[in-house]
Amino acid sequence: MSDPDAEPPFSFLVGGGEMARRIREFDWSRTALGPPDGWPQSLRSALSICLGCGFPIAIYWGRDLALVYNDAWSPIPAAKHPWALGHPAHEVWPEIWEDIAPLFAQVQSTGEAVRRSDQLLPMHRRGFTEECYFDFTFSPIHDESGHVAGIFNAAIETTARVLAERRARLLRDLAAGTLDAPTPAAVAHAAALAFEEHRNDLPFTLLYLVEADGTARLAAGSGLSDAAFARVPQSCDPRGAGTPFRFLEAGQRAEGEGLLLGKEGLAVFGEAVAGSPWPHAVERVVVHVLPRAGGEGPAGFFIAGVSPRLAWDEEYSGAVAQAARGVATALHRARAHAAERERAEKLAEIDRAKTAFFSNVSHEFRTPLTLLLGPLEEIVNTRNGHIFDESRELATVAHRNALRLLRLVNTLLDFSRMEAGRARAHFAPTDLAAFTAELASSFRSAMEKAGLRFTVECPPLANAFHIDREMWEKIVFNLLSNAFKFTLRGEVGVILRPVEGGAELTVRDTGQGIPAEAQPHLFERFYRVQGMQGRSHEGSGIGLALVNELVKLHGGTLRVESVPDQGSTFIVTLPARPDAAGSGPAERPAASQAAPFVTEAFRWLPGSDEMAGSAPVEAISSPSTGPGPQFHVLLADDNADMRDYIARLLRPHFEVTAVPDGESALEAIRGAKPDLVLSDIMMPRLDGLGLLHALRGDPATATLPVILLSARAGEEARVEGVEHLSLIHI
Ligand code: ADP
Repeated sequence: MSDPDAEPPFSFLVGGGEMARRIREFDWSRTALGPPDGWPQSLRSALSICLGCGFPIAIYWGRDLALVYNDAWSPIPAAKHPWALGHPAHEVWPEIWEDIAPLFAQVQSTGEAVRRSDQLLPMHRRGFTEECYFDFTFSPIHDESGHVAGIFNAAIETTARVLAERRARLLRDLAAGTLDAPTPAAVAHAAALAFEEHRNDLPFTLLYLVEADGTARLAAGSGLSDAAFARVPQSCDPRGAGTPFRFLEAGQRAEGEGLLLGKEGLAVFGEAVAGSPWPHAVERVVVHVLPRAGGEGPAGFFIAGVSPRLAWDEEYSGAVAQAARGVATALHRARAHAAERERAEKLAEIDRAKTAFFSNVSHEFRTPLTLLLGPLEEIVNTRNGHIFDESRELATVAHRNALRLLRLVNTLLDFSRMEAGRARAHFAPTDLAAFTAELASSFRSAMEKAGLRFTVECPPLANAFHIDREMWEKIVFNLLSNAFKFTLRGEVGVILRPVEGGAELTVRDTGQGIPAEAQPHLFERFYRVQGMQGRSHEGSGIGLALVNELVKLHGGTLRVESVPDQGSTFIVTLPARPDAAGSGPAERPAASQAAPFVTEAFRWLPGSDEMAGSAPVEAISSPSTGPGPQFHVLLADDNADMRDYIARLLRPHFEVTAVPDGESALEAIRGAKPDLVLSDIMMPRLDGLGLLHALRGDPATATLPVILLSARAGEEARVEGVEHLSLIHI
């Protein structure tokens, strides 16, 4: 009944590819659209646009919404193509009909387009109901009378992007959740919490941790009912065959390659496990071994249900493998932290023991020292004929050194008290400026004798400061004693001035300076800078550590600024205590601990023994009083008492020249070549090894016998490699 003058039915389909061919050949008369020659112009126009377009487009036409689509759209119905062509929408999409029917109705009734982004449409197109996401529009196609005759559908599937973003989030949540987990058990717990939020990809999970004896123990799980979780074995031997999740087999897989199990992997639960949030049951599980970084055997096993609504493709299996890797990394980190903590605790324990040891030993030393000092003082002070001058001189040396030992022991004791938290400060309101100026003045004569300019600026402060005076003395004396020791020329300055919120004490010198790399360690106990050229090598490396602790006890801070060869500045800040302002008149106590510091400082000066009351020994030659040939010994030692003592021992037998350092020794040897050189190793200016090298390098002295003396344990190591050398421990 077709009109012979009418156009051929598909003249509007120019080209159009595979779908155009199908449309031409299709028997439309049995569909809701009817034979093509009756199709209205609006359908023809829409179809021509659809088929000419490279973008996925479909048209739903008529009351039944019969489907026509182009090549680009055909992958969307997947296995339903080409069957879907010409079928009503409700027949093509029964599984998503409740999602899309209201949208069709809305467009038909309003005549306005609708648009959706990343809309979940669980299609059944490849044999299972699949999680699919789309960006799409439904727009009306009006017929000649202005009614909505059809719906134009442009659609892009966004499933891949939505899933990729979701899986990236899963890995991020896992990493963030397990980051601070301190133990493997805490890691398992945190991981399960993170997985609980991602049941779309991981409907359920189980985590087994392998213990020291090789047993795998269930540590955490997610997504399972209590009943299902209760049926999971609590522990098993993963090396044995027949574990429910086939650990042995999973362990033989390459890293990142999970073992995929079907129903046999789910039998253990005794019930269907829902592929939450979907109603379908999980049908597959994947088992990953968690490798132990740098260790033998696995760290654990990770079991994950496979979502019944996702294709088990490379992206999905890769994401689960990454999650397993994330758990393994977190386990490794937690184990490393735990080991680190254990080590730190052990070190702290050793440190406490060391402190206790110092404390006890120092204490024990004080009694015999005090008993030595008493009688020695008596001998030194006795002015009658019972005591020979020579004995008194010896006793003076012994007394001075016993005092020094007492100071060292006291410092150690102070320090260990501080470390053990037993130091008690007795704060009293004090005129800090006057007190500090008085303490500093104790060093004036030593500074002047050393040829150093010494400036003290302590202008009066508005308020009294609450300080522990004994501690403040130790702070000032230690800093001054160091400045004196390490400054051979120039100036030492002490400044106390008010600053915002308190006062600041600065002890500045123009001495050696401290290398930048040593500065951060300066306040560590027993730390000493190597290769320093001070007035003396004596020192225990505890002074600044003690000063630092004492300053902290006052709520203050200690810092250093120093440039090598230009000098050092030590800065103590002391906060004003709020109660200090209103307290009674500040006292001006007399300095009490100055003597040991100042006496020691004098002993570092050349010709120091005059001050100390014994005979000068600088470059003194004395004729041998004993029998035998005139044998000449040159003695070099920076410690005045040690030098004096050895010279005294040798003098009856040999002619002795005593000098305080290597440079003076070289000078003396150039003047009169001795038969033997006896030299200390650690000396300022030029040390014993430097002296030895200088002598060996000069043909005139190359064969001169040299004996190096050492009082320090550990000195052997430094001397190793120097041939033909005698090292005598004294
Ligand atoms: P000690 O003086 O007994 O060795 P300290 O703790 O007082 O111990 O000092 C530690 C080290 O810091 C010293 O050995 C020295 O190397 C360095 N030092 C301290 N004060 C100064 C200073 N004013 N100038 C240069 N170096 C210094």
